[in-house]
Amino acid sequence: MLEARAAVKNLRAYHPPLANRTGLRLDFNESTVGCSPRVLARLRALDSELLARYPEREPVEKEVAGFLGLDPAQVLLTNGVDEAIHLLCATYLDPGDEALIVVPTFAMYAIFAQAEGARVVEVQAGDNFSFPEKAVLAQLSPRTRLIAVANPNNPTGAVVAGNVLIQLAQAAPQAAVLVDEAYFEFHGETLLDQTCQVENLFMARTFSKAYGLAGLRIGILAGDARQMTMVRRVASPYNVNAAALAVLPDALQDQGYVGRYVAQVRSNRARLQQELGNLGLHYWPSHANFVLVRVGSVHAEFVQALRERGILVRDRHTDPSCEGCVRLTVGSDQHTETLIGALREVVEQLGLRREVRA
Ligand code: PMP
Repeated sequence: MLEARAAVKNLRAYHPPLANRTGLRLDFNESTVGCSPRVLARLRALDSELLARYPEREPVEKEVAGFLGLDPAQVLLTNGVDEAIHLLCATYLDPGDEALIVVPTFAMYAIFAQAEGARVVEVQAGDNFSFPEKAVLAQLSPRTRLIAVANPNNPTGAVVAGNVLIQLAQAAPQAAVLVDEAYFEFHGETLLDQTCQVENLFMARTFSKAYGLAGLRIGILAGDARQMTMVRRVASPYNVNAAALAVLPDALQDQGYVGRYVAQVRSNRARLQQELGNLGLHYWPSHANFVLVRVGSVHAEFVQALRERGILVRDRHTDPSCEGCVRLTVGSDQHTETLIGALREVVEQLGLRREVRA
């Protein structure tokens, strides 16, 4: 009988709750307003010729490299950051190697690492989800071959200083260190400059969040040119589809659009956090386009009560150290207004103020 590899059989199936997502989508940290009209116009104008051809990644990779101020040899376009993670795991992890992550964090690091037969070493985040630098350094071993850090982190919104990540990469030269900057635009700080100077440091970005293109599946992996030669070997030459490649230059050129959305999200994030505080709910200050909030034992009722009001949010109760926590995506002014109105009602309905204070 055909059997999957043991590493695959041991994987837990990961099913993000994608069904019935009608309403205000504040559950997956997507853009709530969608992409730039320029991108949409380009998509509408695509013809059958473009679809008949195999997609050519390189010319667009050059443009992206130019945008980032990198050499094209340092840049690989990927099918979202998900694929970038997958490729790094396939390039660097042998069975029995160790992949180090700080939890709670994005689920795909552990999944792709385990699929290669690697052992996932989980280090618990420090107080208030701070980066546990000492504990991470203490867990390094000669078998540590991948370290993945989301900065800002998901689902916490916490960040770690760039110099800490550089020191980590220098302390583990045998490991690929991925700094996942999927939420970079909402934070504004990047390790881009150092990425190609420290040989084992990689940086990933996505067009799924600030650019509103999660459905197109496009991301960037950047790193040292020699290392990227290896990563390219395990990637399909056609990993990024023609429609995504066709619109990417417009997406990058319309920085005005992205900048206006990001500015809205940042100011709404502050507004939402203030309101959560007023409502007596505990939250963690975020540097991304979402806020993690602790609502306690009624987390499922809380999510359901918002759903009844047409708002989707994500229950993070089962993430490490996230008991009773729910993650709320921050969107446009209007969408945040709607969320805040519903939150006031739901807190009242569930008697949450009292529970939180008790
Ligand atoms: N990294 C992090 C930290 C994320 O939160 C997400 C999406 N939830 C991704 C990567 C995946 O991004 P993409 O859509 O580019 O695959």
